[in-house]
This record gives sequence, C-alpha cells and structure tokens, in this order.
Amino acid sequence: MNKFKSNFEELKASGDLPSPAGVALAIFQLTRKPDVSLSEIAHVVKADPSLSGKLIKSANVLKAGTRSIASVSSALNLLGLDATRQLAIGFSILAGNRRGACKQFDYMRFWSKSLAAAIVSQMLCERERVAQPEECFVGALLSNVGMLALATLYPVAYSEILGARIPIEKQRLWEKARFETDHVELTGALLEDWMLPQMFADAASRHIDLEGAGFTKGTREYGLCRIWHFADMLADRLVSGEKAIVRSMPEFLKLASEWDLDQDDFIALSNDAVSQWQEWSRILEVPSRDLPNFAEMIAALPEDAPEETGKPNPHLEFPLRIMLAGDEMNSLGRLSHEVSSLGHSVEIATNLKDALQLALDSDPQLVICDLSSGIEFAKAMRELPSGKFVYMILFVSANTEEELVGAFAAGADAVMTKPYGAMELAARVLAGQRFVRMREELLSQSESLRNVAAELAVANRRAQKASMTDQLSGLPNRRYAIERLATEWKRTQVLSCLMIDIDKFKSVNDLHGHDIGDEVIRHIALILRGAMRVQDAICRFGGEEFLAILPSANATAAMNCAERFRSAVESSPYFKETLKIRLTVSIGAASRRPAMRSFEGLIKSADTALYEAKKSGRNRVVLAKNKQS
Ligand code: GH3
Ligand code: MG
Ligand code: MG
Repeated sequence: MNKFKSNFEELKASGDLPSPAGVALAIFQLTRKPDVSLSEIAHVVKADPSLSGKLIKSANVLKAGTRSIASVSSALNLLGLDATRQLAIGFSILAGNRRGACKQFDYMRFWSKSLAAAIVSQMLCERERVAQPEECFVGALLSNVGMLALATLYPVAYSEILGARIPIEKQRLWEKARFETDHVELTGALLEDWMLPQMFADAASRHIDLEGAGFTKGTREYGLCRIWHFADMLADRLVSGEKAIVRSMPEFLKLASEWDLDQDDFIALSNDAVSQWQEWSRILEVPSRDLPNFAEMIAALPEDAPEETGKPNPHLEFPLRIMLAGDEMNSLGRLSHEVSSLGHSVEIATNLKDALQLALDSDPQLVICDLSSGIEFAKAMRELPSGKFVYMILFVSANTEEELVGAFAAGADAVMTKPYGAMELAARVLAGQRFVRMREELLSQSESLRNVAAELAVANRRAQKASMTDQLSGLPNRRYAIERLATEWKRTQVLSCLMIDIDKFKSVNDLHGHDIGDEVIRHIALILRGAMRVQDAICRFGGEEFLAILPSANATAAMNCAERFRSAVESSPYFKETLKIRLTVSIGAASRRPAMRSFEGLIKSADTALYEAKKSGRNRVVLAKNKQS
C-alpha cells in the first residue's frame, strides 16, 4: 500500500489524473478551511452559472421536499458544505472528461452508466438510509473513476487492454501488471483524495465483488456496497438498452425481492430512475435512452424466460461495430432490427457512395452488404485501407456457382441469399465475430510485442551507454577509448592521440584526502571536455590519466590541441571554499605513421612521449619521436 501511495503521489504530481477544475477546485479548497461559511461558498458557486444550475437541480432532486428551490443560497443551505463540495467535484470531473485519447474507452457510455448508477444508488439509499442520499449519488457517480483515470494516464496501453474485452477480474490483473495499480485501487485513492467519506472509498474498491468484499452483513459498509452493486448492474443494462434489460429481468426481480421490493415497487423505482436519468442527462449533457415502461417489459417476458437466462448470448461477449449497406428499405430495416437485437451496434448506408464514406468514417469491424451493386462495393472496400481486413458478408441474387465465385473473387468472406432465416444470419455474424476477435487479439499481441521490443531497445541503449561511461567523471571510459580508436584506425590514416596525466596527483590525495582527489579528477575532466573540438573524444583512460582521440589531426594539429588542454588546466585551479589547488598536466602526443602496425602502437608512442614530458619537468607537451613502433 505504501508503494502504491507513493506511486499515487507521483501520478498526482504529473498533473495527468482527472481532477476538479475551476470553480469546483476553488470550492474544494475553500471547504477545507475550518471556518468557511456557506455564503462564502455561494459567492464562489455563483461565478459558474452552469454549476449553479446543477447544484440547484441537485438540491431539488436529492433533498426532495415540498418546496422547490430556486436560488444558489437555498440550494447550498439544504445541501450543506460536504454535499456541495462532493457534487461540485463530481460535476467538474464529468465536465472535464467527456472525451479523451483512449480509443477503446467509451467516455460517453461511461458517464451515461455512471449517472444511471448514481441515480439508482441515491434512490435505494433513501430507502435503506445507510448514508446521505446525495453523498451516495456522488460516490456512485465516481465509483468507477479509476477506469477513467487509467484511460487518461495511459490512453494507448489501456486501449489495448480494453480491446481484449476480458472479464473485469482478469482485466484488473492486466492493469496491475502493466501500470502497477488497477482501476479499483485508483478509484479508492481518488475518492479519498477528493475527501469523500472513507466508507465510499472502501465501498468503491469492493462493490464489484459483493460477496468477496469481506464486509459484515448488516453494517453500513455492507449496505452501501450492496446498493452500488445493484445500481451498477441495473445501470449497465439501462445503458445497453431494452433487450439487455429484458434478458436480465428475472435476475433483477430476484434481487429486488431480496431488498423487500415486490414487483410493483421495483417497477416504480426503475421507471422513476429512468425518468430521472433522462432529466439529469439533459442537464449534464450525457446520453440516456428512451425505454419502455418496466411494467411493459416485464409483461413481455416469455413464459420460459427463467430457463432462457441461463444461456449466455455469445454475440454479447464481443459486440461488433457492424455496417449495413442496402438499397431496399424493407430488407435493410429487417436486417438492422435483427443485427442490433443480437447485441451489436449498427450503422446504415443506403447507397454505394454513402457506404464507402461511412466505412471510412466509422471503421466498422463487419459489413453486411445487400446493395444491388454489391460486387462493385466489395471491390472498392478491399481497396480502402480500413476495408482490407473488414469481415464482409455479401448478399448474392442466386446460389449459383457463377454468383458465388464472383462474390468471393470481389473480396467477400461469406455470402447469403434471400430468403434467409434469422438463425442463419446470426450464425454468419457469429462466424464473423470469431474472425474479428482473432484478428484484434493478434493485433493487440503484436502491438504489445512491438512495445516490449521498443522498451528493450531503449534499455539496451541505456545499458550500452552505461557500460561505455566512466562513473566518476561522466566521460567515455577506457573500453570506449579502445573501441573508438580501433574504429578510427580502420577509417583514417590521419589520426593522433594525446595521453594526459595529472602532475603530482598523489600529493593531492595525500594532502586533501581521496574525496577531494575524486573531485579534482572530475574538475579536470570538465576542463578537458570544455577545451576539446567536437570531432574529438576525450576519455578517462585510467586513474588520473585521460586519452584524447583526435581523428583527422596531424602532428601539428595534435600539438595545438594538446597545448590548449595544458594551458586550460594550468589556468583553472580547483577551488573549494577556502581551498585552492593549482593543477597542471603533462601530455604525450603521437600521430599515426605508416610504419605503425596497430592502434596500440599509437597509444604506446603517446605514453612514451608522456614519460618524456614528466621527465623533463612536467606541465608540458611532448610529441612522440619519429621512430618505428
Ligand atoms: P606524476 O604523474 O606527476 O608523476 O605524479 P603522480 O602523483 O600523479 O603519480 P602517479 O601517476 O603514479 O599517481 C597517480 C595517483 O592517482 C595514484 C592513485 O592513488 C591516484 N588515483 C588513481 N585513481 C584515483 C581515483 O579515482 N581517485 C583518487 N582520488 N585518486 C586516484
Ligand atoms: Mg599516472
Ligand atoms: Mg600523475
């Protein structure tokens, strides 16, 4: 937990986490002052007309009484300090995160569902009295905000994870492996950070797995978890639409009875929740749905519904973006109804041109084409970058060999003829789903592999650099010097090197200690680096010895260079507080000669010249004699 805490602080410091902004932030900060008054807060709220409206609405709905509230001040009086702060934060996070860069994260669906969950929670909370209903509303609105945070922090990587469409528990493990945290943990930390009551942070981290949450039945914590769990499920189906609600209805009725809600209570609560959802969605500008009355949906349940619910719908495991193209309206209408009732999302084009444009715009995963110009369409699709790998089902006019060959040659993956049955269509879509799913899994795997390869390459480059760098001075080390010299030796005949040794360095150590000795080495390294030409390399070759490699420098140029180094050192003593150490270096210079057989010979020459420089009094440059090496 401590490691997570410090990670969380780092994430917060990055400024990339969702956070309240503007007036909401001002309110958040104000309410932390011990003596702040509601009228001070009201003054700040009034600066933001949109927030004012939302808070007035909150007071009217969440603190429902007989009188209706029309002013910010009365709204705040009714809501109180804490709820005002919490609502302002919730609305601000929503307003600031309506879209983003994470492709597989459906921002609008996220908020639509969170809003529905918030409304249901608040209504249940009014019945159960485990917390203040308005607090419960905000808590539920933000109860999955960790997902949003991951989408904001890691748009690409999180998109990959979401794209795999794995069950939520497995998804959390992937998140943990990739980001060292998961959305549940992040949600808890964010709610705590925004000063929502601790009970909410705890419940947010446990409502997904109610039984595994570890709260004792009958406690307020358990009660809140149970409310959020139910609200989350109902909200999910509300957002998914009528079919999904009907499919889950038996489960809801069973849950409702555990809440002591009979069927009529449940119908009333759900209908009320839907109409509040629609009303709130207009205020907060997030989508909601038109849904039939719950009583009608229950009445429409088939007699054998309980048996049906045991059978999972394989289409829902991986809903597709499907494009339908057709120029015959009745057929297109039937097709659209059938495909969307399988649980897929559907977009429609009614002619060839629109169909190609729509394919470009909306990047469908599967296409069903019932255009009279189907062959032409299929060929054009396969020319589009986004159409190359789309799964394409083509209607042909007759089941003849000629028609089939033509359709497959044009790029179809499957063909259908009319009349067809709904079961056949479902089966063909399922085959397409298998193809799309496999393709996306492969893509995401190869993307992960590419990422791993890129990370490895970076790590390798770092390691390579580290292995070639001297820790003390930051200069390239002896290993680098040898490799570089070998390379230059092969590349050019005009090549010189300088062996540079600090004079009387032992006495620096003896007089001032080894640590100062180290600092002096660093000091000299800096001076030498500052005096070198860009094309040269200066390396720490040994203890207090440096090797300068001078490609394209003849003996004269090398001597000039060496003299520059020498005088730079001589004129830059080492200072520390009151300490001043005068420093000099001796330099042996050597240039490549035709008789030299290897670069080692060049080093040796420079070394011999250095020895001469030391012998003849130090603080000087000596050029290697022109003798064979
Ligand atoms: P001269 O070269 O002028 O003949 O005299 P010198 O005192 O510099 O002699 P020599 O080159 O033989 O001694 C080098 C000394 O540098 C010996 C060693 O203790 C010290 N030395 C080598 N590496 C390091 C290091 O990394 N840090 C410190 N503080 N001292 C080092
Ligand atoms: Mg030495
Ligand atoms: Mg020395």
